[in-house]
Amino acid sequence: MRLASRMSRLGTETAFETLAKARALEAEGRDIIHLEIGEPDFDTPENIREAAKKALDDGFTHYGPSPGLPEARARIAEFVGGRLGYDVPPERVVVTPGGKPIMFYTILALIEAGDEVIYPNPGFPIYESMINFVGGTPVPLQLNEETGFTANIDELRASVSDRTKLIIVNSPNNPCGSVIPHSDLEQIAEVAIENDLTVMSDEIYHDFYFEGEHTSITQVSGMPERTVILDGLSKSYAMTGWRLGYGVLPEPLVEPVSRLITNSVSCSAAFTQIAGIEALHGSQQPVIDMVAEFKARREVIVDGLNAIDGISCQRPKGAFYAFPNIRHTGMTSDDFANACLYEAGVALLAGTAFGEFGEGYARLSFANSTENLRRGLDRIAEMLANR
Ligand code: PLP
Repeated sequence: MRLASRMSRLGTETAFETLAKARALEAEGRDIIHLEIGEPDFDTPENIREAAKKALDDGFTHYGPSPGLPEARARIAEFVGGRLGYDVPPERVVVTPGGKPIMFYTILALIEAGDEVIYPNPGFPIYESMINFVGGTPVPLQLNEETGFTANIDELRASVSDRTKLIIVNSPNNPCGSVIPHSDLEQIAEVAIENDLTVMSDEIYHDFYFEGEHTSITQVSGMPERTVILDGLSKSYAMTGWRLGYGVLPEPLVEPVSRLITNSVSCSAAFTQIAGIEALHGSQQPVIDMVAEFKARREVIVDGLNAIDGISCQRPKGAFYAFPNIRHTGMTSDDFANACLYEAGVALLAGTAFGEFGEGYARLSFANSTENLRRGLDRIAEMLANR
């Protein structure tokens, strides 16, 4: 079968491939510690599960409007507005099956052949994949370890050309766990406004802060009109499998993105949207408890990594990933990830799964028990010592 040539430009998310390899090893009887996948190892809180069951019984089992149920859009708008401190009109909210489709639809709706998109690198791999898929030109903006994995704003300014259409920001960042300082967000906003660019702000980790509080580029004056906020419930409420996310879009993007939803998935599942309202407006204690647990684990994993010869790791400010520098092991990122999986039985990701500037690093998700984190660290240390 001859596939369409565009398929050769579509990348992937290595986490899912590594998970499959790890599962294959487990099927052969190997014991694997999973530090590869980016999903909280907690159950969805009970009040949310109960709300979903009730919604099913109440008949929320049918098609709904493509941009989301009116009550879901209204309550999401209320939640986002409360979080960011400005009015969010419900008509700007679009509900999708997970946060990821917001990337897909935004890039599909905005970018044409030759358009340039500036995106963080290391960064979530689907940004680059989607930019390439639609024929755009990905322009990586390096996040530098020396500055706590933040971008150099002069470099950003120099990256802007006549063809630049979109800047993607992600704070807290996957995979680096870094946070964009508000002063940098102000400067990025200035660049966007000066050059009439759209921004996509991926805020899916907005609850996962170990230091300070979340700020959004949309809190800078003039930015809500030109920013797509990508967010969702997957991470904050341990709802990765529910597939529930949303975007807050500039007005001109609402209709095109809704049309893309009609053309692809029709709408998001109705009962999950009702459960999502409970998630956002019910008790937030489960989120607070989960983030506190991640903060404790951060100490275990960062201290543990820094105790291993050849590895050094900064303390992530947010998200739930450690992104250690592994250069002094003498291994490439890929070799390190393979040795961890096949020799040590620890599944983690090569930094290069997040772009070219991820070489020399690895990503370990600390969405696993403290005990398993310690076992994983011991295994990595032993594997390196035996080389
Ligand atoms: N954005 C970033 C930075 C992520 O890390 C992820 C998931 O790993 C997503 C978006 C997608 O989230 P969802 O599972 O809601 O589609």
